[in-house]
Amino acid sequence: MKFAVHATAPGSRARAGTLSTGRDTVETPVFMPVGTRGTVRTQTLAQLETLAQRGAPILLANTYHLLVRPGIEVFERFGGLHRWMGWPHSILTDSGGFQIFSLPGTVIDEAGAQLRGPGGQALVLSPERSIATQRAIGADIMMVLDHCIASTSPHAEAEAAMQRTHRWAKRCLAARGDGPGALFAIVQGACFADLRRTSARVLTDLPGFDGYAIGGLAVGETRAQREDTTALVTELLPEDRPRYLMGVGMPIDLLEGVHRGIDMFDCILPTALAQQGTAFTSRGRIDLERGVHRFAEQALDPDCRCDACTLTPRSYLHHLVKCREPLGWQLLAFHNLAFYARLMADIRAHLRAGTFPAFLAEQRTRLERADPDHPPGRRPRVKPRKPGSRGAFALHAALEGFTSIRHVASGEIMHSVNDPDVEAARVYVEQSASLVRALAPAPREAQAAAPPLVVWDVGLGAGHNAMALVRAADRVADHAPIELVSFERDLDAFRLALDHVEHFPHLRHRAPHVVAHRGSFERDRFTWTLCEGDFLATFEARPRPDVIFYDPFSAKVDPVMWSLATLTRLFAYLTRPAELFTYTGSTAVRAAMLAAGFHVARGVASGPKPETTIALAHLISPHALLDRDWLARWERSAARFPADVPPADHPELAQRIRDHAQFAHR
Ligand SMILES: [Zn+2]
Repeated sequence: MKFAVHATAPGSRARAGTLSTGRDTVETPVFMPVGTRGTVRTQTLAQLETLAQRGAPILLANTYHLLVRPGIEVFERFGGLHRWMGWPHSILTDSGGFQIFSLPGTVIDEAGAQLRGPGGQALVLSPERSIATQRAIGADIMMVLDHCIASTSPHAEAEAAMQRTHRWAKRCLAARGDGPGALFAIVQGACFADLRRTSARVLTDLPGFDGYAIGGLAVGETRAQREDTTALVTELLPEDRPRYLMGVGMPIDLLEGVHRGIDMFDCILPTALAQQGTAFTSRGRIDLERGVHRFAEQALDPDCRCDACTLTPRSYLHHLVKCREPLGWQLLAFHNLAFYARLMADIRAHLRAGTFPAFLAEQRTRLERADPDHPPGRRPRVKPRKPGSRGAFALHAALEGFTSIRHVASGEIMHSVNDPDVEAARVYVEQSASLVRALAPAPREAQAAAPPLVVWDVGLGAGHNAMALVRAADRVADHAPIELVSFERDLDAFRLALDHVEHFPHLRHRAPHVVAHRGSFERDRFTWTLCEGDFLATFEARPRPDVIFYDPFSAKVDPVMWSLATLTRLFAYLTRPAELFTYTGSTAVRAAMLAAGFHVARGVASGPKPETTIALAHLISPHALLDRDWLARWERSAARFPADVPPADHPELAQRIRDHAQFAHR
């Protein structure tokens, strides 16, 4: 493989070059269409050939998927993927590292990764196996097997994965030996500058790599983090080797990547977004699902010569997309791939003509435009008096007639289907034996000496649970002393609700306003303190609770709060009797609670949920503990383990649950 740089741009790290793979001379920067399973989804070979002629004579294929099906034997029989799929041009294969990261149930150790195939079959992917498979596929460019992690992982985890990636890279080099096929290393290190620097240095010090990829991006980081990391790494990579930014991205990401010195890209977005009706055009991004296109006469993109743009009006494409017709996907996928090919060809032409900086400035705004003829603005029917959103949260009017708060990024609605005030009182306050006792009227003298009852309100949200307790205490003149501590990471939901008291009548009270303003509220025998920040970072500094209202976001949005690790830590802190109440009836959560050491009982129904859950520490109260019938159902359940427990630990965990004291006599 040979690589040469022919043109650069002032004020930019962008460069135009040629990559000779032995099969093709690929002009760079290049976008490689993704042919995961030996097919670029919906595209015919004739269309792929057209794209090759327009500057994309190289596809990406995926080692993991092809290893699963058809299997390495088929490639050995047919002499590789080129002949088998009828593609005469170049192929780059991904190593399977990304699937190790993204497929659930994968176990990784130094030897490699044990994955589950789609049929549940066990697969082992080691550096050696990955190279052997890529070689059988006949890849012109192979990638080392890397240990990919979420780009937002903590430093220690990112460092360990990076070190392993380096050790695996050496094994891949040895496995490649003198055989055919170029081999690229993959720089890892999440979004930590020190790790990325180390990774680039270690890998460029190893002799034998034909190019370098930047891995582990486009997996949860912000665009700014992605761009900064890209710039930091390309600066450390040798000028005479191609640089490949894996799995990125939108047209604007390609442009910004080129500007930072990237030569090669791949991404499923052009075909994946086509399936959803999104088209990239020279006038901006168009969502063909929108009703505004129903009567649209104009071409999708007057600057494009593809079938979708020359043979039909937008109206017809809108119809195909609305009906989910495969033809709509196929037409738009080709159009999008042609758009990407044209963008890369334009970039190369401007680099060679010395006009890239002006092109960059002009395209930066153009590529981000969406539907200029019909800007997709949100026009509320009634103009709200006050902003209906704050930070990450927005007001949400439920059909049942009450207003809730929606977490915009996840779409999750706090108390989505039942009146939050009712749930707060029934699930959190009225079930608690200790609270019922504390709120019973008693002579003052008897209570004066008693320590206050400590109540933790985990996930303050809009303050429903806390206010249910405040109101319950309001109704009793002589209750026992109560210390309420509300934990909340992001107070914007609470503040948004306080700005809209007309929709949140439970907040028509002095206490929440004082707490929001001063951080605490105090009156005779009742204190309420706000603990802002991550619960997991703060709870161990707080007095141990007697009662916990456990109301974080769901496991889908905030898995850590429901993990075995977190519940185990919480249980360890609860050295005196405590009751925990939560809205979920999830089998996996109950299993995690049992495994953590809690006794677990059924809580009252709430809204559409037939049961909620109560967890008890060092205390058996008159609640309905889960019995052997539950255990039998649990054994049959498909989702019986918490997500943070690796499959290898399932048998031990299952035994711990079966041996739990609460099932001994029932
Ligand atoms: Zn087109």
